[in-house]
Amino acid sequence: MTERLFDKDAYAVKFQGTVLECYEEADGFQIVLDRTLFYPEGGGQPADLGVLGDARVLDVQEKGETIFHKTDRPLPMGQTVEGEIDWAHRFDLMQNHSGEHILSGVICGRYGCDNVGFHMGRESITIDLNTKIPAEALPELEEKANEAIWRNTPVEIFYPSSVELKTLAYRSKKELEGQVRIVRIGEYDCCACCGTHVRFAGEIGQIKIIGTQNYKGGTRLELLCGKRALQDYGRTAAAAENAGRMLSVPGVQVDMAVKNLLSERDSLLRSLHELKWKSFAAKGEQVPEGTENILFFADGLHRKDMVHFADLLLKKAAKRVAVLSPAGEDWAFVLLSKVQDAKDYAEQLKEVFGCKGGGKPEAVQGSVTGEKEALRVFFAERGFLVQE
Ligand SMILES: [Zn+2]
Repeated sequence: MTERLFDKDAYAVKFQGTVLECYEEADGFQIVLDRTLFYPEGGGQPADLGVLGDARVLDVQEKGETIFHKTDRPLPMGQTVEGEIDWAHRFDLMQNHSGEHILSGVICGRYGCDNVGFHMGRESITIDLNTKIPAEALPELEEKANEAIWRNTPVEIFYPSSVELKTLAYRSKKELEGQVRIVRIGEYDCCACCGTHVRFAGEIGQIKIIGTQNYKGGTRLELLCGKRALQDYGRTAAAAENAGRMLSVPGVQVDMAVKNLLSERDSLLRSLHELKWKSFAAKGEQVPEGTENILFFADGLHRKDMVHFADLLLKKAAKRVAVLSPAGEDWAFVLLSKVQDAKDYAEQLKEVFGCKGGGKPEAVQGSVTGEKEALRVFFAERGFLVQE
């Protein structure tokens, strides 16, 4: 059984411990000490990092009541070594874990729901709640959680007796066995937890919800606390400011400016499309009346307009019209026939090129894979007048 020094003092950074076990594994070494400040991954909180003597601690796991430190080099058995945890990493986890408790406590208190999932990732924290939280309620819930910070609410950790526990209202009742460790943050939260926490809510700095989604019938919230939240604000504000500079508006007005820009773009695209259509229609007019077969390479027409264009050309053609337009790697095609052999042409296209599509004897459409020149030759050999 490893003595858990981090339970007594979450702020201690250095300690001394004796090496009880050390063995090699495929990708490093496992070390067991009599005592440790290294928090093992658990309860949603990632493992501590740091050094043990001259070995780097890469991961920390708990099996039963023994804590295993995964290191990059061995340490002599029986030796007393000095360990030091990576404080920046730990404090970041403390800010985020305590912040998560407050927000979960506020939300679960308000909605009578449970936090059924908690994950502290490298980028952000997620909490899963087994009820739908309306998006419009989030700003107020977030503000309520931050109120705990503004009041610098103390974070108490205690081990109630089984009798006291019975009368205590707290979250995560089912998760823990044995002696229950309670983390209480004023009126905001009371929860069973084995993680490391700040002493006062003020140390969290801020709690910010950065995302929400429906998840398994409930809600998944993504949040950032402390320095992570500040850094995220810095990045987001800089991005908004940069975009604002390009659009000649203040950063906070970027969304409206982008909305205007998109509507302008859509109207330009519509005009461009109209012009394209007019230009093709004019070209179509120039095709001599009575031409037997016409192939038109029409660059940049939507499929609907290709059909229109083919219809327009068919007025000029005695027998058949094909319209091809580039579509990614392939060509979209429409083939109309007054002599009811459009499907035969599609079959021939399929034999020579890769071709998908179908239709009726008088009209087929689909896509064909092939070089423009080869397609030109294919149709020219079959008596088509090639236009573009
Ligand atoms: Zn916790």
